[in-house]
Amino acid sequence: MGAFQPDRFCPSLPRRMTDLPSPDADAIAANLARIKARIAEACDKAGRDPAGVTLVAVSKTHPAGAVRAALAAGQSVFGENRVQEAAGKFPELRPDHPAMRLHIIGGLQTNKARDAVRVADVIESLDRPKLAAAIAEAIRKEGRAPGLLVQVNTGAEPQKSGVARDEASAFLRQCREEHGLAISGLMCIPPEGEDPTPHFRWLAELAAREGLGILSMGMSSDFEAAIACGATQLRVGSAIFGARPYPA
Ligand SMILES: *Cc1c(COP(=O)(O)O)cnc(C)c1O
Repeated sequence: MGAFQPDRFCPSLPRRMTDLPSPDADAIAANLARIKARIAEACDKAGRDPAGVTLVAVSKTHPAGAVRAALAAGQSVFGENRVQEAAGKFPELRPDHPAMRLHIIGGLQTNKARDAVRVADVIESLDRPKLAAAIAEAIRKEGRAPGLLVQVNTGAEPQKSGVARDEASAFLRQCREEHGLAISGLMCIPPEGEDPTPHFRWLAELAAREGLGILSMGMSSDFEAAIACGATQLRVGSAIFGARPYPA
């Protein structure tokens, strides 16, 4: 049976997450088990303890039912790239899943900073002074401080979020000194179709120089390479939840 496509049958129907069919919970559980086995094997090869690698299940575009299926399979850390989508999906799951953690991993508009601080446990896409100021102000107003990672645009891609490589250290200093923000690590998304390893290595070296313990790098197609380079957080979407029902 093909995926239910509301737009095909009723073009005027608003396409909301809740309109989509419930996902195949067995497939999600099996995918999670497979990914964890691959993580364990990659850690073994790299001489690393798998306990030092957190799997962030990227549920963007997938319905709350997919998140529930992953929670039932023991997954507790999730990633979303849009604050609004995350706010529509996650707060209702929290009461039943107090250990659940939500990471915002997508480029963040300054005017969404307050919503992000309200909904997220970690914001991985801090990348510019205006956003740092907005997050600092939101933390004061909300009395809630998510973990913060600085995203670096290691491939200097104009369409991508992230601070430039040669501005990363100054930006980290500015976050700490000017805005009083505690930064716990770095995140990058290497350019598609390029060998990701040099990007992962560069980010790992910067983290070491800056004394930052968290390295968010590696997605469905390259998480093993990221583990070899020292990743402590992997952001894996399609290999867990399947193809996205619509572009993110
Ligand atoms: C969508 C997304 C991912 C996951 O991508 P997959 O290839 O589906 O694993 C990881 N990181 C970010 C920032 C994303 O937006």
